[in-house]
Amino acid sequence: MTQSTVQDLQTQAHPSELGPVARDVVGASPRSLWADVPDELWNDWRWQQRNRLRTVADIEAIVRLTDGERLAIAGTAGAFRMALTPYYAALIDSDDPDCPVRAQAIPREGELVRQEGDLDDPLGEERFMPVPGITHRYPDRVLFYVTHNCPVYCRHCTRKRKVSDPTSAAAHDQLAMGLAYIAAHPEVRDVLVSGGDPMTLSDERLDQLLGALRAIPHVEVIRLCTRNPVTLPQRFTDATIAMLAKHHPLYVHTHFNHWKECTPEAARTLRALADRGLNCANQMVLLKGVNDEADIVRRTNVWLLRQRCRPYYLFQADLATGISHFRVPVEKGLAIMRALRGPVSGMAVPTYVIDAPGGGGKIPMVPDYVQSRDDERVVFTNWQGERYEYPAR
Ligand SMILES: *Cc1c(COP(=O)(O)O)cnc(C)c1O
Ligand code: SF4
Repeated sequence: MTQSTVQDLQTQAHPSELGPVARDVVGASPRSLWADVPDELWNDWRWQQRNRLRTVADIEAIVRLTDGERLAIAGTAGAFRMALTPYYAALIDSDDPDCPVRAQAIPREGELVRQEGDLDDPLGEERFMPVPGITHRYPDRVLFYVTHNCPVYCRHCTRKRKVSDPTSAAAHDQLAMGLAYIAAHPEVRDVLVSGGDPMTLSDERLDQLLGALRAIPHVEVIRLCTRNPVTLPQRFTDATIAMLAKHHPLYVHTHFNHWKECTPEAARTLRALADRGLNCANQMVLLKGVNDEADIVRRTNVWLLRQRCRPYYLFQADLATGISHFRVPVEKGLAIMRALRGPVSGMAVPTYVIDAPGGGGKIPMVPDYVQSRDDERVVFTNWQGERYEYPAR
């Protein structure tokens, strides 16, 4: 078998996991709409970044917008920017108004709805903000926001209020304040570099920032939270990956939501990261009409595992304003979790969590396997619904 055949087999979704439609989509980015763009440009993240789709006219060139979408694009323009890399836009199935990639990237009418109980700061990140740009909620780790920009603005973003707002761009002195805070708090052993998407910074600035974190003796682990493997996998050039690998132990957290995002380009990036010891974990958000079916979660997670990216969290969508149309009932989330445990490798089963509104932190939601529990015994059902017992002591 030639090297490239082996690679094709490894990067592409296994036919047994995908139905006939999926097989057509995965493996062949439908970039025919950019047929005149040579591969060198298409695979150059700078070109992708420069040629992002930002206007109704840009989008209309690839999909026919519904009236609702057109209304939503106009209505959200002042509040939360729209941008799609051509790469991500090419994953949209233009014949399908409910395409899961489209739903994540093109505003829909639901985004204009403000529901009772919606929150601008759903996770109380500001409440736990000792200095601008740092959320310190757990004893040994902090979230560090280093930019407000992203290649694609996810319509379900939890940090809508901040992300993409040019007036709140993380200023240079804000980064310095964050670093000073971390340096002054020896209990912080784990820093999640987040945003926005930190990979929108230049390699030089990232290198500087990660180097500055590494220079703090009590910082043991750094985690880079980025959706670039999904929305702009070309961003991870060999040079970029080599730069990141200088700052080990460095983990990567990413955000795949659907198997349509599982392309050969994404596979190549995840595998290149893993080759340099940059262990990747996926944080999926459960979204109505996108991935609220066990089969979608299963296919996506099994594919991720094959690229050595471990499904980590499945997030219940939070109460951010303008994302209520994405909310999935908790019961459905639990049913999805139940459907995963057993049929597929436990490695493909994430922890389902609700980030408690107001800043309570992540609370795991576990399907109820226990039927009864007393001093004598625990009675439970297994994944097939069969009843078992275990002595309680
Ligand atoms: C999610 C989160 C973390 C990281 O949590 P882990 O469970 O360790 O992945 C840290 N700080 C804040 C504020 C968070 O929301
Ligand atoms: S990449 Fe992350 S921060 Fe940026 S819009 Fe998407 S969810 Fe929000």
